[in-house]
Amino acid sequence: MLLSRILLLSLAVLAYIYFRRAWRDYQRQRRETRKIESSERMQACATCGTFVPASAAVHRDDRVYCSGEHARAGAEDKV
Ligand SMILES: [Zn+2]
Repeated sequence: MLLSRILLLSLAVLAYIYFRRAWRDYQRQRRETRKIESSERMQACATCGTFVPASAAVHRDDRVYCSGEHARAGAEDKV
């Protein structure tokens, strides 16, 4: 009887440690993802001046635009 109680208690402790560690890893991963997202470089659109994340910016003729529409407008202005 005592042995089964000890076994059950140690199993509960192990489960607690496992879930606490998994939760901590999950939180750390979320924090790092958020940090990467918030530190992304912003670039100004050559047409309207709006700042857009570098990954979402449209590049054309060495200039940066916020959208395909403004990229076309910028290309037309140049001609
Ligand atoms: Zn724009």
